[in-house]
Amino acid sequence: MEKYKIFDIALFVLSVAIGLSFAPLEVDLAKYIGVLCIYLFFSIIYTNYKVIQGNGNATYDYGMSYSQSFALFAGPFGLLIFEIFYRFSVYFQRKINKTADADEFTDTFFNIGTFVIYNTIAYIFFMSLYPYFENIPFGYSLLFLLAALIIVVFANSFLLFSLFLSGNIHSWNEVKLFLKNRSMLDMVVKNALTNGLLYYFVMQNQWEMLIVLLSLNYVVSKSFLSKQENRQNEIERDYFREMAYTDFMTGLANRAMMDKQMSEINGSNEVLGIVVIDIDKFKRINDNYNHAVGDLVIQHFAKMLKSRVRNNDQVFRSGGEEFTLFLRDRTYEECIECLEALRTQVSEQPAEVEFNGEMTQISYTVSCGLYYNAMVDELPMERAYIYADQLLLEAKGRGRNRLVVKNGLETYK
Ligand code: GH3
Ligand code: MG
Ligand code: MG
Repeated sequence: MEKYKIFDIALFVLSVAIGLSFAPLEVDLAKYIGVLCIYLFFSIIYTNYKVIQGNGNATYDYGMSYSQSFALFAGPFGLLIFEIFYRFSVYFQRKINKTADADEFTDTFFNIGTFVIYNTIAYIFFMSLYPYFENIPFGYSLLFLLAALIIVVFANSFLLFSLFLSGNIHSWNEVKLFLKNRSMLDMVVKNALTNGLLYYFVMQNQWEMLIVLLSLNYVVSKSFLSKQENRQNEIERDYFREMAYTDFMTGLANRAMMDKQMSEINGSNEVLGIVVIDIDKFKRINDNYNHAVGDLVIQHFAKMLKSRVRNNDQVFRSGGEEFTLFLRDRTYEECIECLEALRTQVSEQPAEVEFNGEMTQISYTVSCGLYYNAMVDELPMERAYIYADQLLLEAKGRGRNRLVVKNGLETYK
């Protein structure tokens, strides 16, 4: 049997011995059964809303435990009975829902063992210091806070030791990371406040308040968890959406994004320049070097393109070595100026790539078609794009490395 399983069972045996040494119960049996039932009910329904954390292949809960107040009310023997009922209910619940870990059974022993042991320590601490704190302002709360601190320190120590034994933690760095993720102060304060109130209500027989507080914790945890899940879903959805609209090789928006943007601009009356740019004789680069070098040239051009446009312009990789630009908030002349500068820069700045272990300069040129017009209902972007593509073809036909432009607004004049 693995070391950590022996540790789990040893803790359980120890906790039973500790619990029994405090037997029999010192509280009224009827009250004990009543409180036990209320605590069991709320602990069991709350279990599913505890945050689950993981380390390696081990998972553990991170949430509120009502054991501190139960131990103070019923003593360690009473707590032992509560823990056995509670932990085994959780065990069977998880078995039925098929959410149990492989080690769920020994984990159950671990939980009963550790919760009884450190809550007994906190119980002894609380009971022996209570007379001294009773009369100072906030003494009761302070003592609860200290007891909760003891519990959290022990709880984490046991958990760390068990993770170490099961090989899920190997180094001090992992210990630090584990402790960082547990937000200790949060746990101490939340546990102390909740258990302090619960204990008070139990001792005062304020059953209504007890049930209200337990319900409140349940409702708050439930909505907290569902918010967290919603946020997680949103992050994933945004991520996948971005992936769907991004070209991996260049980091530019892709064709799908271009189509989407086109339909958004359609009918807006916006005046803009649609530009289709294509690298000249690109096949030759692939043939003379290789496909990987071809990719680097495409990336080189994409980078240059990005550095040339303004924030409100849009750049898409619309095909293999073909790019589309929407130039916005510019006059016809400004569009031409921008593209002419780009074309010149490309022809003057070769891509530097590694080929056969040597840095090689690859000169290349581009051809552009620019169609400028207002995107009115009668002129959908899709048609404007076809016009720009035809102008590009014309540039190719006229010998490449050039710009062919058309101002659609002029035809209306
Ligand atoms: P033109 O001046 O008429 O545009 O000539 P071209 O050789 O650039 O045009 P053509 O359309 O005949 O060839 C384009 C080539 O680009 C064909 C295709 O193999 C290559 N290509 C398309 N996408 C990629 C890519 O992502 N990486 C690489 N390396 N090559 C690509
Ligand atoms: Mg080409
Ligand atoms: Mg092409």
